[in-house]
Amino acid sequence: MLIKVARNSGFCFGVEKAVNKAFDATQKNQENIYSLGPIIHNKQVIGKLSETGLDVVNTIEEIQRGTIIIRSHGVGKNIYEQAKTKALEIIDTTCPFVRRIQNIVKDYYHKGYKIAVIGDPKHPEVIGINGWCDNQALIVQNESDLPKDMDHFQKLCIVVQTTMPISRFETLSEQLSQRAEHVEKFDTTCFATKERQESAKELALEVDAMVVIGGYNSSNTQKLVEICKGIRPNSTFHIETAAALSPEDFHGFKSVGITAGASTPEWIIQDVIKYLNNLNKFNN
Ligand code: SF4
Repeated sequence: MLIKVARNSGFCFGVEKAVNKAFDATQKNQENIYSLGPIIHNKQVIGKLSETGLDVVNTIEEIQRGTIIIRSHGVGKNIYEQAKTKALEIIDTTCPFVRRIQNIVKDYYHKGYKIAVIGDPKHPEVIGINGWCDNQALIVQNESDLPKDMDHFQKLCIVVQTTMPISRFETLSEQLSQRAEHVEKFDTTCFATKERQESAKELALEVDAMVVIGGYNSSNTQKLVEICKGIRPNSTFHIETAAALSPEDFHGFKSVGITAGASTPEWIIQDVIKYLNNLNKFNN
C-alpha cells in the first residue's frame, strides 16, 4: 500500500508559535500560568502542557493572579481590560491572521458600519472577533442565518472566520451584499487553512483512502474531513491518534493519503505513518 502525506498538513505557524510560547512560559515559571480555554484543539498537546504546569480555565474570573495566555484564536477587548484590572501578566499568542480581522472589525465598527462575520457563532475566534464591536456583529454560519428580506443595511463590513471554506465565504458574502447599500468585504480566511484544504482535496483524488488526523472538536480538521468525505465517502477515517486505526480499515486499498489539521503536532503524524508502514511490512 502506497502511503502519501499531503503537501501541507499539520501545525500551522500560528499554532506552532502559540504552543512554543506556552511551553516557554511554563519552563520559566511553574506556578499560576493559565490559558483561557485550551491553547489548541488537541488533547494530546494539552495533556503535555498540563504536565508542565499550565492550567486551563474557562473564564478570566477564575484567575486571581499570575499569567494569562491568550491563545491563537484571540479574545475580545474586554478580556484585555479585565486582565489589566487584575494586574495579570499577558502572554498574547493571537495569530496575526486573527488580529487582522479584529483590527478590521474595530476600525469599521467605529466608522459606523454594521459588522457581519461569516463563521460559527460558538467558535472562540468568532466570539473574540465579536468582542471588538461590542458584541453587535451579525453572525452568519449558514443561509438560514441570513437576515430576512426586510433587513437592509446602509454600510456593511463583511469578514470571515479564518477556517471557513472559501466557497462558503463567496456564497454567503454575495447574499449579504445584496442587503446593503455600501459593502466592504474582506476575505480573511488564512492561507494555512486554504493550503491544507487544497492539498487534502488533491491527495484524496489520487488515493483510495484518506486518514485525517486531528482533534474531534477541531474546526479546521472537521473541514478537512468534510472535503475528503466529499471525494472518498466510504474510505475517509478521522482519527486523533494512530490508536484509533485498525488493520481492517485498509483492507483492499492500494494507496492511502494522510492529512492533518493545523493543531496536529508532527509526532502524532509520524506515529500514524509508522503504523501504516508496519501494516505494509506485516502484509508482505
Ligand atoms: S489556522 Fe490560520 S488563523 Fe488559525 S492559527 Fe493557524 S495560521 Fe493562524
